[in-house]
Amino acid sequence: MQKRQTRRMSDWSHRVARARQEFADRNPQSCLAYEAARQVLPGGHTRTVLRHPPFPLTFVRGEGATLTDADGHTYVDLLGDYTAGLLGHSERRVIDAVTAALGNNVSVGGIHPAEADLARLMCARFGLDRVRFTNSGTEANLMAITTAMQWTGRRRIMVFAGGYHGGVLYFASGVAPWNAPYEFVIAPYNDIEGTRALVEQHADDLAAVLVEPMLGSGGCLPADAEFLRVVVDTARAFGAVSIADEVMTSRHGRRGLVDLLRATVDITTFGKYIGGGFSFGAFGGTADLMDQYDTGDPGRTNVIAHAGTFNNNVATMTAGTVVLGEVFTADVAVAHTSRGDELRAGVAALLAQHDLPVTVTGFGSMMSLHAQAPAPARPTDLAARDHALQELIYLGLLQRGVYIAARGMMNLGLAHTDDQLAAALDALDDCLLELSRSR
Ligand code: PMP
Repeated sequence: MQKRQTRRMSDWSHRVARARQEFADRNPQSCLAYEAARQVLPGGHTRTVLRHPPFPLTFVRGEGATLTDADGHTYVDLLGDYTAGLLGHSERRVIDAVTAALGNNVSVGGIHPAEADLARLMCARFGLDRVRFTNSGTEANLMAITTAMQWTGRRRIMVFAGGYHGGVLYFASGVAPWNAPYEFVIAPYNDIEGTRALVEQHADDLAAVLVEPMLGSGGCLPADAEFLRVVVDTARAFGAVSIADEVMTSRHGRRGLVDLLRATVDITTFGKYIGGGFSFGAFGGTADLMDQYDTGDPGRTNVIAHAGTFNNNVATMTAGTVVLGEVFTADVAVAHTSRGDELRAGVAALLAQHDLPVTVTGFGSMMSLHAQAPAPARPTDLAARDHALQELIYLGLLQRGVYIAARGMMNLGLAHTDDQLAAALDALDDCLLELSRSR
């Protein structure tokens, strides 16, 4: 058995070079664009996540749930811009509203009505007393940390191994050297006892616990409900602020994944799809914590200044009001979560028909393919991933007109038709069949 596994792995590695060459041969225009971009953009990009060998595709057009690349290939877009592209590429309600708003004013340098409109929608939808806007999920998390540190007067921030909260809040393996210089304590995800012990150990100086209800970048590994509740309750018991990073997961159910897992936190951070494709971030929560930003209260001595030229930019604020107010209402979100569960069940059923170590994890409309079996449940399990097989699946799906994340992430969007999803499943089936035959 051991011997067979070893042979399989080396066979996959051997095939990767050929698959990359075939990819390069199919995509000469993307190759040229990449080489030219590298002259002015290190690595040819400004989003490290998009890199993959031999080079990433350049896309020139999107329509509905499809993307077209520079060489004219059209793909079913099952990545959905890592959850930011929930609406697909042609949501007229958002595009028309933003176009109209930009006809009125592009950059205000003052208050405009869409800002409070979006804040009202967010507070009502996600059970927040108050909210503030930023330009990205990264910034939202930085500001949530600031809010907790100012409130508690403490310095340490608990995060989880395998977590991702932004470019400078990256914990895939320890604390990344380029992270913002906070005093982080790294706890084990989905490990109640290990986490509780660490909270107790650092209790005196713990400002906040920052947790994703499902590790998104970390492989779509959902938190156990009990784990999340214990994390939040233990933090609260020791006077630390609980922060849920729902930058990706607020799309689930009526109020986001934390609510579905029956937990309640002090601050929640948001991003991605709420801006309808425009730069977006937000953090919100209880009045006591958030009113530290209340400059209108003359009696307040501890006001936190929070500036940002584009925090309230017209395009994002307008788009957000249409996204939450018209397109992705709570009812739509509930239905979308169920449709995602069905898709993931379909993927799991398909994988079960193949004798390959490939599994799927996730929740609702977010999921990830893993070249390993059994399916991972904790970040440490990801060490068993067969990277060569993972890459072959990625390149095999591209070849068959399906675009997912190189690391395996797939996100169901609102624009996907049943036919497109069926075609994507057929492509996966065909790809796995070919891999099985060739090993
Ligand atoms: N938190 C989570 C859970 C995320 O997935 C991301 C982005 N992938 C971020 C924060 C950072 O958001 P942004 O890229 O908008 O800075």
